[in-house]
Amino acid sequence: MLNLVLFGPPGAGKGTQAKFLEQRYQLRQLSTGDMLRSAIAKQTPLGVEAKGYMNRGELVPDEKVVGVISECLDEYRDAKGFIFDGFPRTTVQAVQLDRMLAERGERIEGMLLLNVPNDELLKRLMLRGRESGRADDQDESIILNRIKVYEDQTKPVADFYSAQGKLWVIEGVGAVSEITARLEAVIDTLLK
Ligand code: AMP
Repeated sequence: MLNLVLFGPPGAGKGTQAKFLEQRYQLRQLSTGDMLRSAIAKQTPLGVEAKGYMNRGELVPDEKVVGVISECLDEYRDAKGFIFDGFPRTTVQAVQLDRMLAERGERIEGMLLLNVPNDELLKRLMLRGRESGRADDQDESIILNRIKVYEDQTKPVADFYSAQGKLWVIEGVGAVSEITARLEAVIDTLLK
């Protein structure tokens, strides 16, 4: 299995790039944000609970998202590998992910961090809000809160993987295809 964490602030392009990498390497993308939005649309108990946190730009409690990922690891046991997109977002989640993978005889091979400056993130998210109608992309103060939550609670996850020698930083600005090529260069190194 090839298990990767695609990491970076909101608006860094994780979802966009995950789709290309999924195709190229036959991996399964696991986006906790997509799963939570789907749970909200279906009004499941998880969706009802997550909605308030998401609309405020706050993180959904660790145990909820860890539970969702644990179910996916069981459901897609036969996958060739996973691209974790938007997970882990706290060090607690990262520790739990390592544990869940270890229990299945697996591990994370690398974390790919897409580096994008904050003013560019704000621009991209405001545009996405207009185009997609996503609730948490509509309001500048909520977007700024998500960027702050990233700085305060999520960025330390990069140190967690760096300490394991697994962190790769990729410039996340430029043409989408150029950024994909940068990611592929790293993944091809990991596959050697
Ligand atoms: P995303 O689509 O990854 O930008 O996630 C949208 C929102 O879903 C976030 O702002 C959080 O409220 C919630 N969310 C997604 N993934 C996680 C996670 N791993 N931990 C906690 N909350 C999450």
